[in-house]
Amino acid sequence: MALVASKHLLQKADRDGYAVPAFNFANMELLQGIVAAAEEMNSPAILAASEGAIKYAGLPMISAMVNAAVKKSKVPLVLHLDHGLSLSTLHDAAKAGFTSLMFDGSRYPFTENINKSRWAARLAKRAGLSIELEVGVIGGKEDKVFGGAGCMTDPDQAWAFERQTVPDALAVSVGTAHGHVKKDLGLDFNLLKKINQLVKAPLVLHGSSGVSDWDLKKAISLGVCKVNMDTQLRNAFTNEVRSILAEKPDEIDLRKYLGPARDAVKKTAMERIAACGSEDKA
Ligand SMILES: [Zn+2]
Repeated sequence: MALVASKHLLQKADRDGYAVPAFNFANMELLQGIVAAAEEMNSPAILAASEGAIKYAGLPMISAMVNAAVKKSKVPLVLHLDHGLSLSTLHDAAKAGFTSLMFDGSRYPFTENINKSRWAARLAKRAGLSIELEVGVIGGKEDKVFGGAGCMTDPDQAWAFERQTVPDALAVSVGTAHGHVKKDLGLDFNLLKKINQLVKAPLVLHGSSGVSDWDLKKAISLGVCKVNMDTQLRNAFTNEVRSILAEKPDEIDLRKYLGPARDAVKKTAMERIAACGSEDKA
C-alpha cells in the first residue's frame, strides 16, 4: 500500500472513538519494529520523523526507508514530519514524499504563531498533504523542540487559532511533557473537555509517555485522535541493547543486539496500539 495522508485516518478515528498511534523513528530497526507491530495488530500508524531524526539519517534515507517499508504493507501508513520548525523544512519534507506535515510555531507569540501557521497550512494543502499545528506550548525536552516548563493551551485561543488556520489536526498542551519516563503526569481533563467542545479538528496528544493507559483512554474519549510516542520505543530499544551487551560484553555482531532490540520495539509498539484502541482499525 502507498503512503496515505493523515487527515482521513484522524477523522475516522474521531468518529469511531480511538486514536491513531504516531511513532517516532530515526533508524531502520525502529521503523521495521513499528511497521511489523502495525501489521500484526492490523492498525493504521503514523511514522513520524522529527527534524532531529532527519538530521541524523538524512531526508533521502528517511524517505527511501519508509517507502521500502510500506511497499508490502497492508495497513494504512503515513509519513509525517514531527515538529517542523520552519517553512523550508516543511517544503523539503513535502518534496521528499512526506504525506503529513506538522508546523510547530508554539515558540512564537500567539498572533505570530497564527500568521506562520497559516502559511504552513497553505503550503501543505497546496501539496495535497495533511497539516498539524500547535497552540499552547508542550513542555519537556525533545530534540530541537523548545518548551521548557510548557504552557497549557487556552481554550479560547485554541478556538480562534483553529478558525484562522484551519488545521487537519491540532496539538494541544493539557499537562503532558516530552521525554517523560515515569507514568505520573496528571492531565487536565476539564481543560481538554473545554478545548474539545470549541475545536472541531482532531486533537493530538504529544508527550504521552508520562500518561497512564487509563488516562490515555479518557483523553481519547475527550477528542484526542492522534497520540505521539517516542520515549517508550527508545526505552524498549535501548534497554534491550543494554541488557544483551551487559551479558555479552564481547559481542560485536551488531545484528545480535539490534535484532532483539527491533523485536522489543515491535512488542512495545503493539502494546501502545492496544492502548490507543486502534487494533483492527486498518
Ligand atoms: Zn511533540
